[in-house]
This record gives sequence, structure tokens and C-alpha cells, in this order.
Amino acid sequence: MKKSIENKLEISQQAFSSWKNTSWKKKQKLIKNLANILDFNAENFGEIITKEMNKPITQATAEVKKCALMANYYADMKPQLQIEKVKTDFAISEIHYVPKGIILGVMPWNFPFWQVLRFAIPAILAGNVVVLKHASICLESGNTIQKIFEEAGFPKGIFMHLEINHEEVEELLAHDYIQGVSFTGSEFAGGKIAATAGRNIKKSLLELGGSDGFIVLDDANLQEAAKVGALARLQNCGQTCVAAKRFIIHKKVAKDFMKLFIAEYQKFIPADPTKADTKIAGMARPDLAVDLMKQYKKALKNKATIILPLEKIAEGILKPGLIEVKPGNPILQEELFGPLGMVMFAKNDEEALKMANDIPFGLANSIWTGDKKRQKYFVENLESGTVNINKMTSSVPNLPFGGMKKSGYGTELSYHTLQEFVNIKTIVGK
Ligand code: NAP
Repeated sequence: MKKSIENKLEISQQAFSSWKNTSWKKKQKLIKNLANILDFNAENFGEIITKEMNKPITQATAEVKKCALMANYYADMKPQLQIEKVKTDFAISEIHYVPKGIILGVMPWNFPFWQVLRFAIPAILAGNVVVLKHASICLESGNTIQKIFEEAGFPKGIFMHLEINHEEVEELLAHDYIQGVSFTGSEFAGGKIAATAGRNIKKSLLELGGSDGFIVLDDANLQEAAKVGALARLQNCGQTCVAAKRFIIHKKVAKDFMKLFIAEYQKFIPADPTKADTKIAGMARPDLAVDLMKQYKKALKNKATIILPLEKIAEGILKPGLIEVKPGNPILQEELFGPLGMVMFAKNDEEALKMANDIPFGLANSIWTGDKKRQKYFVENLESGTVNINKMTSSVPNLPFGGMKKSGYGTELSYHTLQEFVNIKTIVGK
């Protein structure tokens, strides 16, 4: 391992030795400072996001504001992870929550501030310290987040951005100081990182891809579903883990819904990401557009039909596409991480449910119906970490977030995530 990284790990380890004993109140005060910095500078930080990965500026600024909201949630949370006394036959019976130490975050480019802070803030509040490997196109975001922690008054070493490559991630996971890893990204990289963590007996948390269903039943508010559906597929240029990727429409309303949906979809016209009214821009990297085009061709080769063609406008910039896909098309087993939606038609609720579940992923789903009985049927049977009713998926600080199946394991957000990187220690005696 490079000496410069070793040195940074020493600083982190040193920081942990006092941070783990820092009071809940003091930690929250610093998180509150961090929330204020994020809120106050949302536009400036948003510009960094837009520059690095092309997110339209309004969405980039909203991402930073949402980070401030989440930071405030943790800054105001009543004390957690307190010593619990349990009644047993012994005089002393207690449960203690002990922070693990340095936790590595390996994070993607699609929400360069949100993904990092969603993991780091609760991990740090639980008494850990964090080192970050950010996506290689988001180094300025990583460095800026480190500066924000410093400016908020956190002691040196509580949050450090390391500019490292894949091999160095592997070396870090083998290092004794690193006690766990939180990974957000693709299934492929997540599997590799979790395997390395497992080999080194380190805890891992995986937030991976998804191919969420957006299920519209025959009693749904079609106008609302069409409008929200287009946004759910195309915001952030379709590069969102919880984007609606498969539209499963009840056959009875297929014609009416599709007319409205196509009209809403066509409102997303690629434009300059620095302009306030831009809804969609180029993809984060040109190679991602090339990969999506390959998946589009693969889908067509397997008998998908074109509703709206996916078209290359310029390098890395695609005009959004929509395809009709039938069960059995191998493209359904893949995540489409860009402006291409899949549409399927179901003859009844049972078929819609089967279509929704018949994929390797289980991140989130959205079900559109006003009928409570039908809602219950989907809530109970959809295989995903989140089920949304008459709304698109969006994470909320005080609700847990995580996937089932190949979308990963572990929980982020809410008070639940505070237990991800602590050891539960039992104290018992006479
Ligand atoms: P990615 O290629 O897996 O990269 C994610 C991070 O892992 C980057 O920092 C990347 O670094 C690093 N990385 C990749 N391969 C690695 C390896 N072998 N060893 C060590 N580090 C490695 O994913 P992405 O393309 O950036 O992000 C898109 C994916 O993330 C999608 O599948 C999306 O659904 C998923 N995602 C999931 C959630 C969720 O909460 N479930 C949220 C957002 C995104 P480099 O940049 O240097 O390659």
C-alpha cells in the first residue's frame, strides 16, 4: 500500500480513538453545522455535480438540499445506541453498541453528494470514522465533501476522501484498520467488493442496481401516472437506481395510458445541463450512452418493438426511447441505466405481479390503484425493499432504504442504519 494512504489511515485511526467516545450531542452539533453549510451552498455544490456528471443544475441543487435535509434529520434525532438494560437472572445484564472503527465507502457518480452523505453521516453519528473511494469522475465532489466536514468543525480524520483505484480498494479491505465497507454501485463491482470483504472477514453493505416496476392498474389516475411515470424514468437522465424502468400496464387502459405517457415522455428533450429549465441532458460519460445503445439493440434483436426510438443526438447525448418488451426477452434480466424505458401489458393483477417479480433485482416498485384490496395484494407480494402506492420512488431520511435479491443487502437511512456498523456487545455478571 502507498505510504500516502498508510499515513491517512493512521490519521483516521487516531481520530477514531477519541471520536468513539464523543457524546451524541457533540456529534449532532457538528452534523447540524454540516447541514447548514450544505443548505447555504447548495447552488455552488450543485454546479460541481453538473460539471462532473452532467446532471441538470436544478436537479443537482435539489440533491444537495436533500443532503441538508437528511443531515438535519440525524442532527435532530433523539439519542440512539444507548446502553440497554435487560432483565435476566444476573445482577448485570446490558447491551452495548460499540462503533466498529474506520468504514470504507465506495460510491458511484449518479448522486455524487447524496450517496456519500447518506452513508457517511449515520456511520459517523454511530461513532465510526469514514474513508471514501469516490467514482473516478467525481473527485472534486469527494474533495469538496471532505472540506465541508472540516469546515463544519469535525476533527481531522473523521471523513477522508482517498483518491484511489480499484486495486487500492482491495488493499484497503485487507488492512486491519478497515472494519467494514459500504458499497453503492453496480451488481458486478458490488459482488467483487463483498467477496474481498468476506475473505477478510469484514462486514459489507451493498446498495446495487434495480429494474423497478411501475404498475398501472385499470382504475388508476392515468394522467397523474403518465406524468409521474415519465419523470420517474427520465430524471437524472435515467441514471437512478430506483428509476421506474419497466412500465407494466393493465391491458384495459393500455391505449389511454400510452397516449398520455408518450406525450409526457416527449417533454424530456436533451438540453444544456447548466440551464435552470433543463429536464434532461447528456449521460454522465459517453461510454454509458454506447452501452445503453447496445442494450437497446439487444432488446430489439429479441423481438422488442419500438414505441419511441432511442436516438443518438451527439456523443453521450441520447433522445429518450421507449420499447415494448414481452416476457422472456433477456433484456428484462438487465438494468437499463439511462433514458430507455420498457413497457409491458398485463391482462390482470396476477399477471402484472408475475411480470414485476420476474427479474433478478428487488429494489423498489410503484403500484397505481385506488383500490385498497388491490394495493394490499401488491404490497404483500412484490419482491422489493420499497413499495410505493400512487407515487414514484424517492427516498426519505426517516424511512429505511435497501434492496432485496440482487439489489443488495443492508439498510440505509432512518434510525435502522445506525446499527449497520456497530458491534453488539453483551455485558453480563453477578
Ligand atoms: P460501478 O461501476 O459499480 O462503480 C461504483 C463505484 O465502485 C465507483 O467508485 C467505482 O470506481 C467503484 N468500482 C467499480 N469497480 C470496482 C472494483 N472492481 N473494485 C473497487 N472499486 C470499484 O457503478 P456505477 O456505474 O458508478 O453506478 C451505477 C450503478 O449503481 C447502477 O447499477 C445503479 O443502479 C447503482 N446504484 C445503486 C443505488 C442504490 O442505492 N441501490 C444508488 C445509486 C446507484 P471507478 O469510478 O473508479 O470505476
